Amino acid sequence: MDFNDTPEEAAFRTEARTWLKANAEPRPEDDDADLLGEKLDDASVAWCKDWQKKKYDAGWAGLTWPKEYGGRGASAIENVIWKQEESKVHTPPEIYGIGLGMCGPTLMAHGTEEQKKRWLPDMLMGQEVWCQLFSEPAAGSDLAGLRSTAVRDGDDWVINGQKIWTTGAQICEWGILVVRSDPNAAKHAGLTYFVVNMNAPGVEIRPITQINGGQGFNEVFFTDVRIPDSDRIGEVGDGWRVAITTLMNERASIGGGGGAGNSTDLLRLAREVEINGRPAIEDPSIRQQIARFYIRAKGLQFTGNRTLTALSRGQTPGPESSLGKLVGGVLVQDMSEFGIELAGMAGMMNDETYSLDKAMWQERFLGIPGLRIAGGTDEILRNIIAERVLGLPPEVRLDKGVAFKDIPSGPPTQ
Ligand SMILES: Cc1cc2nc3c(=O)[nH]c(=O)nc-3n(C[C@H](O)[C@H](O)[C@H](O)COP(=O)(O)OP(=O)(O)OC[C@H]3O[C@@H](n4cnc5c(N)ncnc54)[C@H](O)[C@@H]3O)c2cc1C
Repeated sequence: MDFNDTPEEAAFRTEARTWLKANAEPRPEDDDADLLGEKLDDASVAWCKDWQKKKYDAGWAGLTWPKEYGGRGASAIENVIWKQEESKVHTPPEIYGIGLGMCGPTLMAHGTEEQKKRWLPDMLMGQEVWCQLFSEPAAGSDLAGLRSTAVRDGDDWVINGQKIWTTGAQICEWGILVVRSDPNAAKHAGLTYFVVNMNAPGVEIRPITQINGGQGFNEVFFTDVRIPDSDRIGEVGDGWRVAITTLMNERASIGGGGGAGNSTDLLRLAREVEINGRPAIEDPSIRQQIARFYIRAKGLQFTGNRTLTALSRGQTPGPESSLGKLVGGVLVQDMSEFGIELAGMAGMMNDETYSLDKAMWQERFLGIPGLRIAGGTDEILRNIIAERVLGLPPEVRLDKGVAFKDIPSGPPTQ
């Protein structure tokens, strides 16, 4: 493992830092990430669009995108350095992760030249926001079991069905959509991939209210929605292969664990609050617990450094990066629970004004379970680690090669 920047990486870091210093305020200590991007009102969306355009004009948008599509053509490690530096300044909520991290790379890999020209520039400039319409009520981990349909009608396809957990759909102009175009084909073979206009007639978006009152994701209903064949990505029936490109990019973009735990925040809190009239930090059991979190966070950080070292050497990190999300999610959840307990009575309130640290601990505690599900649940990550890192036998697949219409979809009827 190599912990230091190479001279080129150090120069890149200085350039990034200099631009960020000139164009943004430092991040306040108690400014926590909006984990699910759910506090989106018109003003914050406008702020997002301004910040993205500013970065685009200065050449800091779409760092790893090729120059021919308006990106910087930077390396994966430069992208990591940029993200490290950008996280130190006060920025709007992240609404472009799905578009720039998943939709754009998929269009680059499978779209026609016309499709790329039409969608990529506005996506990168941040003027059009994109969402991912994959999951359905009966298809999440087993995504290929999806049931929404596409039926060809002249130059159009007619879409019917329901998607769910669609992050940010309510603020999006476009979405990537996988639907079943052939129920007679085997599960993975009968799917086709489209781009859908979120304002098309027949698209109905219903926000889902979460445990913390936020509305980060939605149900999306399709009733006879028409999509022109020119908005199909890849061949008819080849949607699974296109979707895999999106999912590989999703895993790469969230492999880090959704913000690893930072025990410095807990130390600060332990100095502020009191137990039995003394600062909590003076209690040995509190110090020991924070030390344990520090050790777990360091283990995670050093494991993450293996990925960074691979990126720095131009290698592609392997399935072991699933460890970061798996271990990081549990760690942040445990730390948030401890933060809430440490705050005593104030820990019981989830209110930015009255709770300590602007309710950071409560927000993390309520948000992390969602992040432990999104982009691969803990159990699915364990399966990946078991099969692809440890080489254990794969799961039994009873539906392999069976036509989708012949796969039982529920309990047997009497
Ligand atoms: C915050 C958040 C944002 C999201 N954003 C989007 C989005 O923008 N677009 C989108 O399309 N989807 C989105 N999703 C949906 C997400 O992809 C799914 O929730 C996820 O894939 C799990 O699917 P599921 O909810 O249907 O659960 P299921 O797949 O039904 O799983 C239920 C339980 O069974 C376990 N399980 C399932 N299969 C196995 C197995 N083979 N082995 C062991 N255990 C198993 C799971 O781990 C889980 O505990 C989002 C979800 C969240 C929480």
